[in-house]
Amino acid sequence: MALIEAPKNFPTKLFINNEFVDAADGRTFDTVNPANEQVIAKMACAGRADLDRAIDAARKAQPAWAALPASKRSSLVWKIGDEVMKRRQEFAALEAMDSGKPYNECYNIDVPMVADHFRYFAGVLRGLQGDTIPVNDGLFVYTLREPLGIVAGITPWNFPVIMAARKIAPAIAAGNACILKPANVTPLTATLLGECIAAAGVPAGVVAILNGRGSEIGQMIVESPDIAAISFTGGNEVGIKMIRDAAPTLKKLTMELGGKSPNVVFADADLETAIKGAQAAIFYNKGEVCTAGSRLFVEAKVHDEVVEKLAARAAKMVGGDPLDDTTRWGPQNNKGQFETTMRYIESGKKEGARLVAGGERMGDKGYYVRPTVFADVKPEMTIAREEIFGPVLAVQKFDSFDELVDKANASPYGLAAGVWTRDVSKAHKYAKAIKAGAVWVNCYNWYDSAVPYGGYKASGYGREMGLQALDAMTQTKSVWVQL
Ligand code: NAD
Repeated sequence: MALIEAPKNFPTKLFINNEFVDAADGRTFDTVNPANEQVIAKMACAGRADLDRAIDAARKAQPAWAALPASKRSSLVWKIGDEVMKRRQEFAALEAMDSGKPYNECYNIDVPMVADHFRYFAGVLRGLQGDTIPVNDGLFVYTLREPLGIVAGITPWNFPVIMAARKIAPAIAAGNACILKPANVTPLTATLLGECIAAAGVPAGVVAILNGRGSEIGQMIVESPDIAAISFTGGNEVGIKMIRDAAPTLKKLTMELGGKSPNVVFADADLETAIKGAQAAIFYNKGEVCTAGSRLFVEAKVHDEVVEKLAARAAKMVGGDPLDDTTRWGPQNNKGQFETTMRYIESGKKEGARLVAGGERMGDKGYYVRPTVFADVKPEMTIAREEIFGPVLAVQKFDSFDELVDKANASPYGLAAGVWTRDVSKAHKYAKAIKAGAVWVNCYNWYDSAVPYGGYKASGYGREMGLQALDAMTQTKSVWVQL
């Protein structure tokens, strides 16, 4: 056991104009450590006057930011990544305290990915260029890729600092100013990012980080006529309301919403690898992953073996303090999510699914839930249909490829899918047949700053990461010149 010291000094105020300031009306809210249910800090809670200040600062800063030579903007965005890596341990410890994610994961996965988001977009922004288009004789036509102006990011609590970087990096790389509204249950690491942005030398006003309530500051951002676009990651209910409420101001929206992703084990798979993969697909980040492989389909021939081994593996997963760097299983992110998960577990039991692992709270302090596996799940059961966003796996059996594809696609969501097989042809046929924005073959939950990411169907629209994220943050101007 190696306990990481909890950071004592970290910013808790609003980040506006490269300074940390109290909310204009002095309000605060508490952020809680889900491992011990204690308040970590009081955070400034943004309201109307703070949004106005951030917009005013952004309006002043954005034209000069967009006009910087691309090489200069690139080097400033790159430096944010450097600043983040300098403070890797601090970020990882704060994330562990605030989100319940094990320190080890934060240190090895989340923080480097944040740095990579800034570095990737610092690199590709230099390729933001237009075209020349041959039209009639006597006309010279070219296009310009221009920023949108002031944009916003609104993020959920499951990957707090990664989500913050995923919104800010492409937005400012493309020459926009960006206002970020982090999830109010996990505000600490996004706020610390403000220090890195200022230390990197990004001009004041280009980024604002406004913590506060979704229904207040979030809603004000949605309705603001000064904000041209929102990149949103969150639940479907909030997303649909946002689409409606953003319509009068004609905002450009990127919607990364929920999922209920199918993961498939064919009988010809390398079973040991597939079982480990299925375990990681549902239990990574305590199941609080929008792409979680929460519906597992197993071919009948190997069904019993897979279920038995998976249950045994789940039963061996033990919880610990997220700040202990040997911990691999933390508490659910917050009280609400803990209670939702427990409700779904009860519904699985009540509706007749066979509980083969977990199914209860872990310990009596903190929001820990045992990794839970239900077998003999029927497609109509609640746990097979609804996004739980917790460590609950619903296993179903299948006999044929066609039956499988129908069942896997029988969900309103279409975020991701996994398949485990040694048959290359079958893997590609499945990848083609499945309606999802990402398909993992003999692997699961891989991400890279360069690979577009987003959903089909009710999982949303638009793409983050990759060059498509820059498309979302720019607009095209066509210039016609009579020669
Ligand atoms: P949520 O929708 O409750 O909140 C997301 C953000 O929206 C928060 O910052 C919240 O404060 C804000 N918000 C709430 N009401 C608002 C309003 N009226 N106007 C503006 N903003 C408002 O989601 P959550 O509980 O934080 O996260 C869980 C959900 O996010 C799950 O459904 C999950 O699938 C989804 N998610 C999707 C992806 C993806 O990439 N597709 C990734 C992570 C999480």
